[in-house]
Amino acid sequence: MPELSEYPDPERLLGCLLGGAIGDALGAPLEGLSLDVIRDRYGPDGPGGFVAERFGAGAVTDDTQLTMFTAYALVQASARARAKGIGGAAPGMLQVAYLTWLRGQGEEFPEQDMVGGGWLVQERALMTRRGPGRSTLGALRKAAERRRPGVPLGTVGEPINDSKGCGGVMRAAPCGFGFSEAAHAFDMGCQAAAITHGHPSGYLPAGVLAAMVWALLRGAEVRDALELARGHLQGRPGNGETADALARAVRLAGEGPATPERLQTLGGGWTGEEAIAIAVYAALAPGGAGARVRLAVTHGGDSDSTGAICGNILGARHGAGAFPQAWRDGVEVREAVERLAAMCSAECGPNPPDTR
Ligand SMILES: [Mg+2]
Repeated sequence: MPELSEYPDPERLLGCLLGGAIGDALGAPLEGLSLDVIRDRYGPDGPGGFVAERFGAGAVTDDTQLTMFTAYALVQASARARAKGIGGAAPGMLQVAYLTWLRGQGEEFPEQDMVGGGWLVQERALMTRRGPGRSTLGALRKAAERRRPGVPLGTVGEPINDSKGCGGVMRAAPCGFGFSEAAHAFDMGCQAAAITHGHPSGYLPAGVLAAMVWALLRGAEVRDALELARGHLQGRPGNGETADALARAVRLAGEGPATPERLQTLGGGWTGEEAIAIAVYAALAPGGAGARVRLAVTHGGDSDSTGAICGNILGARHGAGAFPQAWRDGVEVREAVERLAAMCSAECGPNPPDTR
């Protein structure tokens, strides 16, 4: 692996967030449709652009919403750590941000003293209900009932449930933005996911994605970033399913042309380990970033989540400019993503803003 830079590249960081939103929006109308139906409607390679079904052309879903709340909370936590000289607040701030998001989902829960999400709550597209996952809603409801928003209820050590849904990994990319070491990014990915997903296959893939994004933003190639992340996965309790799924994805990528049929042998992406495996498989395919994200959504499973994760990876590697212009312009939350990415790059860069 080439020597990595100390700070994340701002163009790649923007690409990570925007690519995730693009993959989410491209895949959202396809979620749960069979490959045959997708091909009937959109052609052999799936949709070549945003289509209006489900939430509207270019509309993002819970994957992008929660990724952005993750990013915002981590900026807040980092600024606070700098100001006060003490860290450790991130998991609590993540839970507050997720509970703030929960308010936008039409969920009833007890009033409590919490402020999260900052200006994100003014973005209608980020607060409205867009197909949230059952485990995420259930875990956050439980946390809300307890009325201690700033103390995470679900942790790696004390799992909140036995869920291995992909809702943990699909929001974890920003956990790779800051930190001086990949191991910390891996840990933060796991902690962020464990707030709602208690099974190792629910939170370890989030660690893998965070470590990959960490390396990619600092100059690594996809394969090198993946090997680094797999190294951090080693020795983690309960890592078998995630390690096996990634090994299958790498093997499959070396076995000839990348096709939806081959991709589907990795599963539907509804679970964490399948989602990261599908995203990695598509990211390792030949072709431009657009074609690879298209592959990541063209299957009979959780297309928006696999598209979002693959978009995170490819954007972190190639920058926002790697995606077709029409997709960059047409994705619903582009301006908010640009504003948030600038905040993240400033906070994680060599000269973070003075917040005192
Ligand atoms: Mg979704």
